[in-house]
Amino acid sequence: MGVLRVTNALLLAGAESVPLPSALLQAEDGVITYVGRESEAPPCPPDAEVLDAEGMLLIPGLVNAHTHAAMTLFRGVADDMPLKPWLEEKIWPMEGRLAPEDVYWGTLLGIAEMLRAGVTCYNDMYHFFTEGARAAVDGGIRAVPSGVLLGFLPNAEDLLAEAVEFCVELVRSGPSRVTPMLGPHAPYTCPDLLLRKVITLAGEHHLGIHIHLSETAGEVEDSIREHGVTPLQHMADLGMLELQVAAAHCVHLTDADVALAAETGLGCCHCPTSNMKLASGFARVPDLLAAGAVVGLGTDGAASNNNLDMIEEARMAALIHKGYRGDPTAVTARQAFAMATLGSARALGLADRIGTLEVGKQADCVLLDLSRAHLQPLHDIVSQLIYAAQASDVHTVIVDGEVLLRDRRFLKLDEERVIAEASARSLRLAHP
Ligand SMILES: [Zn+2]
Repeated sequence: MGVLRVTNALLLAGAESVPLPSALLQAEDGVITYVGRESEAPPCPPDAEVLDAEGMLLIPGLVNAHTHAAMTLFRGVADDMPLKPWLEEKIWPMEGRLAPEDVYWGTLLGIAEMLRAGVTCYNDMYHFFTEGARAAVDGGIRAVPSGVLLGFLPNAEDLLAEAVEFCVELVRSGPSRVTPMLGPHAPYTCPDLLLRKVITLAGEHHLGIHIHLSETAGEVEDSIREHGVTPLQHMADLGMLELQVAAAHCVHLTDADVALAAETGLGCCHCPTSNMKLASGFARVPDLLAAGAVVGLGTDGAASNNNLDMIEEARMAALIHKGYRGDPTAVTARQAFAMATLGSARALGLADRIGTLEVGKQADCVLLDLSRAHLQPLHDIVSQLIYAAQASDVHTVIVDGEVLLRDRRFLKLDEERVIAEASARSLRLAHP
């Protein structure tokens, strides 16, 4: 892969960092070997690929901590409905008609959209996840795929066995940008027997778990009726929280749940747009952050958002808690940026590799064009990024030191073909 140098940038290496003008980042074989003042950088190797980032902001790639990438296929087909009928009457019947190739093209559409919004890694849960993983490899993005496990499917046990086999093989010999997890959908769709097997197998093979948790008030009430405890406590009782767990939503938490999340290092994956669209409620993000919990940020699928734009999602996270709590200091721009980068990386167990721009980490980074009217004048770069920037400001995207988008053009993906294929397949699925 060789040496890549990004020069002349305004650097924001992480949410805790001070912005640095005239900065340089150097990556060798995908790993950052220098990041800091250009004047102190090592000499440029003769064969280096050099990107001039004059007038641009260099940030760590955004990490989408929870999505169902192929659900771009269902964008806009069923909106303004409650969660249960939305799933049971609309989404699940359409998913019943999915072919593996549909998932491949739908995932690629999601990848194209995410890369354009500065997302360099995403946590995915879906059917035919081997196809989703194949799309991630072809798109060049970093991905954490998991096959969705639903207890009511007659072949749930077989799917689990297949998922474990695929994960083990990927970890052993697979591409380094793909880190698979096991994906039990939720406690209310997976009986304890299945969850226990997932936990045992995840522990045995050192795999993380991606699950939906405490998304609606009804889910929590049902759990208390059935098990006597909240979904979070129930997962703790089963032993799940001893593992690396990325838990989507975590909306309805008790004080004890908040403390438990912080204590166990549970990856709480906040999805504010989805929570508002499905009227699930307002997650206790300020409380989770105050308790020291790991909080990442995700878009959820494009059927419940309806886009995969993490810049918009970070803005949403920074705004809704202010309005809901009547407190303009709730979830600051800096906290929202932290959630969208290192917080999500921690929720996925990848914080040692991504989430900030530091020597030794992977070169997953994004250049934003600061020259446009809505980003000027420039006072506080983090405020500008969270409250004023748009996905269309993303100019260049680099994953593992490989340039995937440059000057807003894809170097690896055939975007036109991806849009045509995904659109045609989506029409067939929605109108059989
Ligand atoms: Zn979801």
